[in-house]
Amino acid sequence: MDNRSQGALPSWLHAIPIPVMCLAPDQRIAFMNTLATNIIGPDLEGRHYLNALRQPELLTVIEDVFRGQEAGEIRCQLSALQQEGVYDVLVSRTHDGFVFLFFQDKSDLIDALNMRRDFVANVSHELKTPLTALLGFIETLSTVAKDDSVARAQFLQIMQAEALRMDRLVADLLSLSKVEAMERQRPTDKVRVKNLITQAVTALAPLLDSQNVTLSETIGDPTCQLVGEADQLLQVILNLLENAIKYGGRDQEVQITVTAGIFDERLRTEVVVIEVKDNGPGIDPVHIPRLTERFYRIDDHRSRALGGTGLGLAIVKHIVSRHRGRLTIESEENEGSTFRLSLPMRE
Ligand code: ADP
Repeated sequence: MDNRSQGALPSWLHAIPIPVMCLAPDQRIAFMNTLATNIIGPDLEGRHYLNALRQPELLTVIEDVFRGQEAGEIRCQLSALQQEGVYDVLVSRTHDGFVFLFFQDKSDLIDALNMRRDFVANVSHELKTPLTALLGFIETLSTVAKDDSVARAQFLQIMQAEALRMDRLVADLLSLSKVEAMERQRPTDKVRVKNLITQAVTALAPLLDSQNVTLSETIGDPTCQLVGEADQLLQVILNLLENAIKYGGRDQEVQITVTAGIFDERLRTEVVVIEVKDNGPGIDPVHIPRLTERFYRIDDHRSRALGGTGLGLAIVKHIVSRHRGRLTIESEENEGSTFRLSLPMRE
């Protein structure tokens, strides 16, 4: 290979679908494909590689390979022109002294690892608070409050509330992991929407009563069906109604409306639209894009006081995505909120 003329380099180099850089035996850059130019910079051909790469660990590997080592690999961060990324750089030498650098983008993997780490930290934190409270009360009940029957009754009540909180969290975590595991399996059953709503309303009757909330149902076509898994769709409706009742506030009104046979331009199919609307304090638009993230809460204290785990809408998002549907949230502060599900009617 001739390092002075790019024309002498094999044309297939341009077709390699990952960033690639070739260094000539005199350590100048002989070639960079467009993908490499995008992450390292333009107009570097003909210059010494030290002008283009500054990551000390990467430079060490390149030096080793120039000195005779056959190949090397290093993970490093590159400040791309457009964005930063983490790359595994594979460095290898040809028999005639050229050194090739292949850049494998690992940013998605790193993001996934970071997300997993944050998730574990969040779960531990969520469990730790009620667990610490329980341990504290057990200690008090077995020492200073040992013979105090009034304190015992009071503490047992708090301990039950804390244990129930952990129970809800574990149930939601299990349900989230189950939903995620099934996300790629398309449901095939036919489900009657009216039945789901009747079941949800029956299950929520005690909460509606205790909050003195009136629920009004408008179901355009009581026979309308959609393709889905009944248990999961019931969970979606329960989560949305429960939120509307909890966050809408006492003595308010919640509406659920079902409209079938609407053509959804985005999904390019006929859908059933299920709207859950409350007339509570509403949601500041800055929060809306993040509401379906795990453990994202607008007001931590309020969510916990109302028995929230911070996972309800994350579960909704995954179930809706499994059903190839979509969730839109509309709200203005002091104007209430509308959570709108669009779910395909056919497979
Ligand atoms: P949580 O268990 O905290 O209710 P969710 O995932 O169900 O968790 O909801 C996430 C957050 O979204 C809640 O903590 C709350 O701040 C906000 N939220 C959800 N539904 C409503 C609603 N109808 N009105 C106002 N805020 C809501």
